Amino acid sequence: MKNPSSEETIASNFIRNIINEDNRTGKWQGRVETRFPPEPNGYLHIGHAKSICLNFGIAEEYSGVCHLRFDDTNPEKEAQEFVDAICDNVRWLGFDWGKYLYFSSDYFDQLYTLAEYLITQNKAYVDSQSTEKIRERRGTLTTPGENSPYRDRTAEESLDLFRRMKNGEFAEGTHVLRAKIDMASPNINLRDPVIYRIRYAHHQRTGGKWCIYPMYDYTHCISDALENITHSLCTLEFEDHRPLYDWVLDQLQEKLPCHPQQIEFARLNLTYTVMSKRKLIELVEQKLVDGWDDPRLSTLAGVRRRGYTPRSIHMFVERIGVSKADSWIDMSVLEDCLREDLNEHAPRRIAVLNPVKLIIDNYPDDQEENCFAPNHPQKTEWGKRTIPFTKVLYIEQDDFMEEPIKGFFRLKPGGEVRLRYAYIVKCVRIEKNALGSVVAIHCTYDPETKSGTDGAAKRKVKGNIHWLSARHALNAEIRLYDRLFTDPYPDSSDKDYKNALNPDSKTTIQAYVEPALHKTEPEQCFQFERNGYFIADNVDSQPGRPVFNRTVTLRDSWGKVAGM
Ligand code: ATP
Ligand code: MG
Repeated sequence: MKNPSSEETIASNFIRNIINEDNRTGKWQGRVETRFPPEPNGYLHIGHAKSICLNFGIAEEYSGVCHLRFDDTNPEKEAQEFVDAICDNVRWLGFDWGKYLYFSSDYFDQLYTLAEYLITQNKAYVDSQSTEKIRERRGTLTTPGENSPYRDRTAEESLDLFRRMKNGEFAEGTHVLRAKIDMASPNINLRDPVIYRIRYAHHQRTGGKWCIYPMYDYTHCISDALENITHSLCTLEFEDHRPLYDWVLDQLQEKLPCHPQQIEFARLNLTYTVMSKRKLIELVEQKLVDGWDDPRLSTLAGVRRRGYTPRSIHMFVERIGVSKADSWIDMSVLEDCLREDLNEHAPRRIAVLNPVKLIIDNYPDDQEENCFAPNHPQKTEWGKRTIPFTKVLYIEQDDFMEEPIKGFFRLKPGGEVRLRYAYIVKCVRIEKNALGSVVAIHCTYDPETKSGTDGAAKRKVKGNIHWLSARHALNAEIRLYDRLFTDPYPDSSDKDYKNALNPDSKTTIQAYVEPALHKTEPEQCFQFERNGYFIADNVDSQPGRPVFNRTVTLRDSWGKVAGM
């Protein structure tokens, strides 16, 4: 998909500057090849969308390609379910990896052969210390590590042990393969990092073939090189791993086609949400939300179900830019992108969320007439739809006040209001139940004031409210979603994010919607006039019985909505 803002000038960023410079010097012969490398151990979230848009977007801009590579080196945590969901998310965002779909596990044979090569070059050795001992001897930020007593094993001995590790002769945790770098390095990542460990685990792609699995740092750089990646974009926490990335590729330069450049950028941090996979898994498993695609979650499956559009996410990513410094983005930036997009693209419809009856005493009992409402106030080419008008209507409870506060311009006893696209009505009496709540508002209408007629222009009233014909209104379940957390930084420092859950983040109501919505398809978005943006739920909607999720409220409060 072309970037929606491709007509705007694309803001420069430091990554584009690096690529422009590489193209000027001919470093990669003008080639740009990036990759998005998710681990299939959970669902993607809005932070990943930043990385996806960046990697695929950069490739597209420079007529290059972007690979989708599953980093599947932890068999215990990974699953096909996650692979499928990730593919779906990337496609939904409008990107296509074409034939460039890869799995790190496809390189297990090569990774193994290269590890043997490192051993023969005296750049790796089998360590037979326990996991605890290895950790203990790694040192700290202020003290150097200690060499393993096995560090000076001969290459022959290490090679023999490594082969036997592969053949399943040893128990988990008895031996590991380590890179031989420098136990005194100030960068802990360079203190002889483990590059292979024994795991008797079934891998979702290679099955029982392997009982040793390569570590991320070893696998990632080699996978990049084998795929001829030019620019390997990752988040800032990998900055300290870059020397290891380069070390591995330098040792293997005879064996690999190229040495990609790792470039780090700041991850997306968004207020009022959590994005760590561990926490997302916890929310789902402890049933604090309704599954991975709960519309309150920051997962891409969740925001999609909430009604976010790919366009709004592209707009957001473009707007927040790419930088080297970590920062927080306010949730309202994301919501504003969504409003901007939906304001432009969502057809208008009417829903009454908290209904109260309005009865027009001087309107004939079984008369019915059509009113005409534009599908979009700025797009006349979208046409109009008809809405039936009858004697008994529903309006919103809060569009009526028996004892109006100052500045209340909607319906009040003795007051007048325009029923949008229809007539001016005057409140003549109210009906209450035994508990004292208003059950019906009786009005009279002025037949000379129908919207669109000459008479309408002659009379002006301040208030303008929406309504539905009670006889025609369609019953619909509506879920009013709000932010999942009440704290902008639910998981900062030592806080337990579960204490910051918003108890009012989901309210399910039975509401009325206009009859035209009978034919709603799942995932259609609408602006329900004066109420916000809504999407037909793609899981629970039935033919003829749509269920709507509130995507986001309107920025404007009711008082500012322009009259028709
Ligand atoms: P975890 O939460 O377990 O650390 P992860 O979010 O890093 O996992 P990966 O599957 O490793 O998950 O991420 C794939 C890619 O997405 C990586 O290149 C990673 O840097 C990037 N990424 C992850 N989170 C963000 C984020 N918040 N903003 C931008 N990019 C991100
Ligand atoms: Mg990660």
